[in-house]
Amino acid sequence: MPIDGEPVCGHTSGFTPLVEAKNLAEALRIKKCYIKDDSVNHPTLSFKDRVVAVALSKAKEFGFKTVACASTGNLANSVAAHSRYSGFDCYVFVPYDLETSKILSSLIYGVNLVAVEGNYDEVNRLCAEIAMNFPWAFVNVNIRPYYAEGSKTYGFEIAEQLGFRAPKNIVIPAASGSLVTKIYKGLMEFYQLGLISEFKTKFFIAQAQGCAPIVNAFKENSSIIKPVKPKTIAKSIAIGNPADGVYALEIVKKTGGYAEAVTDEEIIEGIKLLAETKGIFTETAGGVTVAVTKKLIEKGIIPREEEVVISITGNGLKTQEAV
Ligand SMILES: *Cc1c(COP(=O)(O)O)cnc(C)c1O
Repeated sequence: MPIDGEPVCGHTSGFTPLVEAKNLAEALRIKKCYIKDDSVNHPTLSFKDRVVAVALSKAKEFGFKTVACASTGNLANSVAAHSRYSGFDCYVFVPYDLETSKILSSLIYGVNLVAVEGNYDEVNRLCAEIAMNFPWAFVNVNIRPYYAEGSKTYGFEIAEQLGFRAPKNIVIPAASGSLVTKIYKGLMEFYQLGLISEFKTKFFIAQAQGCAPIVNAFKENSSIIKPVKPKTIAKSIAIGNPADGVYALEIVKKTGGYAEAVTDEEIIEGIKLLAETKGIFTETAGGVTVAVTKKLIEKGIIPREEEVVISITGNGLKTQEAV
């Protein structure tokens, strides 16, 4: 991780379970299926605790007194929680129409929450302007490179938990596309260090049909990501103008993967399928990933005689409205 001293937070984040899901594999009619389960990440139940651990540690090194973020919910929850014990003032900016639990799970920490009448892309633009006028560390704006590196741990752990090897196929939900690029980078670093002997993983991107700019570009065989106006129940991944979209798309193409989207109905079915077969209650983003995996197997794009790792990135208790 790109920090020089001791981390100031996140010591308990990460190292979430990688579990084999036999009943799910049977339901999907595929040989083997693993869930990398960040729905139980500590302390705020999403993969965002990984990125915030690095971002706030770096913010402390840089001497920032205030941390902030533009968020679709989970990042705000995590920045809020970690800021409390690592000694920062905290401002989080979110679209006004998030799920109740995502709002409450920031407010409970007593931070400043700004609800913006607009979608995430508008919140993000506002934050870019604020970052130019206030000496604040916006974890996903002005210190974004450090934040992004935190996602590599998701890839490191998958390799370690598989017994130091890379999976054959991995399905990852994409909002900004950052997580996709950093799982790739994490596995690549392990490969370059000789910790895994082979790296031939195919990367698959999962998005909701109501916000699928990366999937659209993939299907149009274009390297330009056209922004969209999000309209989906999968609010945590509803980014219409994804910052790392082109890079995520490149990884899908060069690894021989694919990008696919599913409807809101399919998202809910995905949430239920994972709950009923593995006893894991994921949020809407997880429903997207499960449903896209199902679709890719049915289309023959992920072969039935192979294994697949499904990236579960958030917790269902935070998006109860959806179901
Ligand atoms: C933020 C988030 C993602 C994806 O984030 P990227 O911006 O693509 O890195 C996926 N799932 C959940 C639950 C999230 O909160």
